[in-house]
Amino acid sequence: MKHTLQFSRLLCLALVATFVVTGCVRNPVTGRLQLALITEAQEIQMGQEGAGQVERMLGLVPDPALQSYVQTLGQAMAEASERPALPWRFGVVDDPTPNAFALPGGFIYFTRGMLGLMNSEAELATVLGHEIAHVTARHQVTQISRAQVLQAGMGLGGLLFPELEQLGGVVGVGMSLLFLRYSRDMERQADDLGFGYALDQGYDVREMARVFAALGRLGGERQSAVPSWLQTHPLPAERIAAIDERVAAMEPLPPGLRVGRDAYLDRIDGLVYGVNPRNGIFRDGLYMHPDLAFQFALPDSWPRQNLAQVVMAVSPREDAALQLTLRGEPSPDAAAEAFLRQQDVQTLETRRRTINGLPAVVASFRAETPQTVLQGLTGFIAYENRIYQILGYSLVGAYREYEATFQQSIGSFTRLADPAVLALQPNRIRLVRIGERMTLAEFDRRYPSAIPVAELAVINGVPGPETVLPAGTRVKRIVQG
Ligand SMILES: [Zn+2]
Repeated sequence: MKHTLQFSRLLCLALVATFVVTGCVRNPVTGRLQLALITEAQEIQMGQEGAGQVERMLGLVPDPALQSYVQTLGQAMAEASERPALPWRFGVVDDPTPNAFALPGGFIYFTRGMLGLMNSEAELATVLGHEIAHVTARHQVTQISRAQVLQAGMGLGGLLFPELEQLGGVVGVGMSLLFLRYSRDMERQADDLGFGYALDQGYDVREMARVFAALGRLGGERQSAVPSWLQTHPLPAERIAAIDERVAAMEPLPPGLRVGRDAYLDRIDGLVYGVNPRNGIFRDGLYMHPDLAFQFALPDSWPRQNLAQVVMAVSPREDAALQLTLRGEPSPDAAAEAFLRQQDVQTLETRRRTINGLPAVVASFRAETPQTVLQGLTGFIAYENRIYQILGYSLVGAYREYEATFQQSIGSFTRLADPAVLALQPNRIRLVRIGERMTLAEFDRRYPSAIPVAELAVINGVPGPETVLPAGTRVKRIVQG
């Protein structure tokens, strides 16, 4: 959770958008007519809503120079594409898993983890080109299932209990857009088009293979709100081979193609690497937030997610959820009143109390949706000029079973006093220019990193620890603080 962001009204976040099948539209890339579920105006509206949710839930990396760098590169490329007039937006979200994704209408995001993995502007440009291509070819529009479109207008029940396999799915249709999967043909087309877009901007497109190679070497899945690029982009060797074929077909390549290694590395020097503990950690059955200096308990056995504006956990049977958010109201009373007067929410009981010395209001309620009836317990707690809400809810029939868990979680909210946790700092990328040639393993001995040397090799784009680095090479290391 990041304290700069405002509260989320997850429970009552009812997306008002409704979308309908509109018939035929002309595909801007192929020129062919295709059946479309939504018009361009609706596509943009859907993307805007999705982008808002993505930015609220994941948060943007607080680095304006880095954000405008990505925006500038992306904007130039998009303006040269088949759909220059879309409200293109490019951003870097604060998530450690390497990924890049495009929402309908031209909203494109890289994760912080993806930027940490790459080593040149040309690599960035080829991934940008690929994601832009998904938008120009209107791939999302054909992939968005009718179910997702309907879900957008469904409101409470649909948002609370969709398929909860991925907690990310809980937070709404915008986030579910992150899990869109494209067909193989679409991926091939995006690679083709993106290759052309990057080349038009003068980038050395041979660098694209390096991105695939790094993602392939990294493998594995990390704890994250977003799926990795490997999950959304299957990585057959065929795709890497296709890059070679495209290059071979173009030989000789135009002269003076740009790699932009130094320009890129300058931008990511100092970028946070891996999970940022300042945004909150789960430890020993507690959620602890060093910046905001509070902690509260969550059941250890419940899968949980720490997002920019909400900390949430879902019961293993997926019939109950617990979450913490920040409220915008000035007092626990005002926050409770605002929450309880929402349509379809019926107050059962409300009372003032203190929780570990902090002023609070605790209320029980029922909420009716077209699909189901929920029962819940919620606490509003005043602490250091902020109002926190802990909200536990379940299907009404299961409430008795979870009531004690909800009470325990609300009653556990207190000041974080552990000095070691308060002092936690994230790891960061630091660049070192080596004065003499050495292997990466030697570099790692001389300039130790907080990650294994194999991972260091991946983020430096070299095959392994024994790779020899020439004198003058700039090498990434990962250090704390
Ligand atoms: Zn793709």
